[in-house]
Amino acid sequence: MEILLASGNTHKLEEFKELLGEKDSIFSIVKAEEGLEVEETGGSYTENAYLKAKAYYELYKNPTMSDDSGLDVLSLPDELGIYSARFGGEGLSDNDRVKLLLEKLKGQDFEDRQAAFTCVLCFYLGPKEVFFFEGKLTGHIAEEVTGSGGFGYDPVFIPSDHGEALEEKHAEKLFTLAEKPNWKRENSHRAKACCHALEFFKERVCQNV
Ligand code: IMP
Repeated sequence: MEILLASGNTHKLEEFKELLGEKDSIFSIVKAEEGLEVEETGGSYTENAYLKAKAYYELYKNPTMSDDSGLDVLSLPDELGIYSARFGGEGLSDNDRVKLLLEKLKGQDFEDRQAAFTCVLCFYLGPKEVFFFEGKLTGHIAEEVTGSGGFGYDPVFIPSDHGEALEEKHAEKLFTLAEKPNWKRENSHRAKACCHALEFFKERVCQNV
């Protein structure tokens, strides 16, 4: 099934091709001829993902998928989340936003720095065939920037989904996503959402045979 990615972002295209469109996959992810500026006016990841997928579907008349993602920080409710890309206002760089986040959390203990990345995928195959899949990655916000891989909040996000390190409480075993891009590729909120989507659609294909 050919799926149009509702995004003009080439990084996202490469990432989703890898996560969903590998050899033997049921999907082939393709880029839109031109990216659209879709206003993210929804009140949730799900609503924003829906708005993006629907806008591309209506223009290109092709089964479409979109994603919406963000970082929720427990002690800063409503400040990031669906507004993560705009945290601190327009015109800031990723580095500026990371710096601002560290300033706002200054002095807080590790336990109070809980955070989670969320990704919601919307598959808009037609007006009556719309499916959503969610992936989450829980963790903590570090006290300083570490690592040079990834993007956005990766250099300050310490994942806690790798049980062993947190159980042993050995700080040297903790890492940020920017330090381990390969780990991130397999375990991120996006990877988990894609995994749910693949499971669902594979089952669906089998039932239709
Ligand atoms: P979107 O492009 O509307 O989904 O906005 C996502 C925003 O959330 C990005 O601009 C980043 O600030 C943040 N974000 C989402 N996923 C990640 C990630 O995997 N690493 C770092 N930041 C992320």
